[in-house]
Amino acid sequence: MTRSAPDRVTVRVPAKVNVQLAVGGRRPDGFHDLANVFLAVGLHDEVTATPADALTLTCTGPDADQVPLDESNLAARAARALAARHGLAPAVHLHIAKDIPVAGGMAGGSADAAGALLACDTLWGTATGQDELLAICAELGSDVPFSLVGGAALGRGRGELLEPLPVGGTFHWVFAVADGGLSTPAVYKECDRLRDASGTGATTADVPDPEPTPALLDALRTGDPAALAAALSNDLQAAALSLRPSLAATLAAGTDAGALAALVSGSGPTTAFLVADADQADRVAAALRASGTCRTARTTTGPAPGATVLPQG
Ligand code: ATP
Repeated sequence: MTRSAPDRVTVRVPAKVNVQLAVGGRRPDGFHDLANVFLAVGLHDEVTATPADALTLTCTGPDADQVPLDESNLAARAARALAARHGLAPAVHLHIAKDIPVAGGMAGGSADAAGALLACDTLWGTATGQDELLAICAELGSDVPFSLVGGAALGRGRGELLEPLPVGGTFHWVFAVADGGLSTPAVYKECDRLRDASGTGATTADVPDPEPTPALLDALRTGDPAALAAALSNDLQAAALSLRPSLAATLAAGTDAGALAALVSGSGPTTAFLVADADQADRVAAALRASGTCRTARTTTGPAPGATVLPQG
């Protein structure tokens, strides 16, 4: 018996926080080599694919007005890339239910790309192998492969060469969502500018090769929040703070409220607070909301699974 094609497919896909983001020097191609330790966390977008005459896109959610609905949308680019790979027309409507902050350093666009890829692959019955899906993801953006696989992983190269990492427990997090976004390329440029200005230089010849910290990998493996708190690091943090000095007050509000550690999430401006447990997460989130230093605060845990097809309801 052949199974009939589904008439809609919804994929849930997580946000990420970088528990370590070690940034090497600027390469001749303008990118930076990274040692990027990703942890997927339980804030999600959902991408629904339904058959349509042509590729169309809609988006709902608190930040929906900031999401481009044209060809530049990463979900649309993912659908086109998969269709081209299989010689198909991208005849699909994609709906993004967006809960991940836009331009917040949490890989929301990358999540939508991975979600659209898996949703279309399931809808079209193209049964693309995991390695090929990951190759398409890497062409779409440095963070897209991780959005597909989730969990925890070390990303090398631009972050797209993934090695899964074992995690020995559940970590509790609070995320403070800022008003407005920060452009990831602008934050890298500021990182280079600060390195040049400090006299050390910003190229691969000046900056040591980025490496994951053994203590951080141990903390993930053992699931020890205090050890992870001591090992968190983000080489883009100074640049994000330089472009958005008000983030210092948000970081201070979270640590004053008892967070084990605070850092800028990726290129920011979302800030991430590692806490001991769910009760502390609620207390820190309430204090952040009351501080007036952020738009809102969200509690969640990680690791979270990667892109997942939801049962049809
Ligand atoms: P990263 O953490 O991977 O650097 P980010 O979380 O900072 O990314 P995104 O939310 O991915 O940033 O959005 C960055 C920009 O990408 C947006 O300003 C927007 O113009 C564009 N974009 C394209 N497609 C999407 C999408 N599906 N959702 C959100 N933004 C998108």
